[in-house]
Amino acid sequence: MSTAQTDQTLPLEGESPYELRVDQSRHVSESAVTHALATGDMGFIHSFTTGSAVDGPGMRVVAWTAGCQWRCLYCHNPDTWSMINGMPVTIEHAAEALNKYRHGLKAMGGGLTISGGEPLLQDRFVVKFCRAAKALGVHTCVETNGYLGERIGDDEIASIDLVMLGIKTWGDEKHRKLVGKDITPTLQFAKRLAHRRRPIWIRFVLVPGLTDDAEDLKQIGQFAAGLGNVERLEVLPFHQLGKYKWERLGLGYKLADFHAPSPDQIERACEVFRAEGVNAL
Ligand code: SF4
Repeated sequence: MSTAQTDQTLPLEGESPYELRVDQSRHVSESAVTHALATGDMGFIHSFTTGSAVDGPGMRVVAWTAGCQWRCLYCHNPDTWSMINGMPVTIEHAAEALNKYRHGLKAMGGGLTISGGEPLLQDRFVVKFCRAAKALGVHTCVETNGYLGERIGDDEIASIDLVMLGIKTWGDEKHRKLVGKDITPTLQFAKRLAHRRRPIWIRFVLVPGLTDDAEDLKQIGQFAAGLGNVERLEVLPFHQLGKYKWERLGLGYKLADFHAPSPDQIERACEVFRAEGVNAL
């Protein structure tokens, strides 16, 4: 990989994950992308956020990776679907950027979160970045839809302290309609993490009229409770902050008429999960 093909002068930190960033890698050749994916020497990152208190325990540096094979109807970052929209960042540069914050992260009980997009599309980079973080003594978390979990070897799972796993709905048909892919690989990854006793936080987006079926919530709660390694289940309220990205990217946004859940609706969903024995919040 020639460093001339990367632009390490780009500011890593975006103003917010809701900032639209596109075509940041258009100058990177296809062979360089292939090499990067095979080795993990370089990642494609939409942006970095420093000082996030909502993406894992404590205060986090978050690397938002580019590329996702799912098409969730409520995705608020569709500009992360294409890897070409991420900026090329060498593993050395990513580790250096993290190193600047390591003392603060440790003091505030935080660490590194790799989110996306779908990080495991860049599984080699994720493993290298997590291992680099662990070498700095930094806690690591990967937020994933779990679909490509089999790409991470058993010995590599050890470098991920926490997996934040997105469970979007229940049942294959509903899942395919909501995200475009089957749910089975996600559930298999969750079971594998449970078998290896790696902690999971489940993230569930509540969209009234779309993902709030009480029986589905119950099934998700039962599955989560049965794993034995789910420390919490976070109910995230649907919002419309990403709508403008769908429009600017010329994508057909189907949820314009859907509303954010009320505090009561969120509490009711949490109660269904809690009734199954899950620490829902
Ligand atoms: S898995 Fe995440 S990044 Fe991918 S489409 Fe769904 S919400 Fe968007």
